[in-house]
Amino acid sequence: MFRESKQREAILRFVKGTSSHPTANHVHEEMRKEIPNISLGTVYRNLKLLKREGKISELDIADSKSRFDGNPHNHYHFRCERCGRVFDVDEPVNKEIDKRIARKTGFKVSHHILEFRGLCRDCQSSNE
Ligand SMILES: [Zn+2]
Ligand SMILES: [Zn+2]
Repeated sequence: MFRESKQREAILRFVKGTSSHPTANHVHEEMRKEIPNISLGTVYRNLKLLKREGKISELDIADSKSRFDGNPHNHYHFRCERCGRVFDVDEPVNKEIDKRIARKTGFKVSHHILEFRGLCRDCQSSNE
């Protein structure tokens, strides 16, 4: 039997090594190749733990399934409305917005989450 920490290591390695922002289900599928008897619950618990430890992050946009991200730092995303893939957007996080909203509203803003929507390059070219 795989020890819990070994499992966690394997999960972390996979999430860090992919840019696909996988769902827990996807991580589970991948992990089963390595650890055939691993359960979805175990994968999910470990993903949450890695997130709490600040090693990965979670894209928690309200209407969609949680995806996990090997990059624990705030960054922007693009989600394709046709194929559902999520990409990193190489654009610095604008901290000025947080300050401006805080001034306007009196709220204490910790950060903001930004996700662009539209068609990825593959989906645009399969349009024609
Ligand atoms: Zn697409
Ligand atoms: Zn990302």
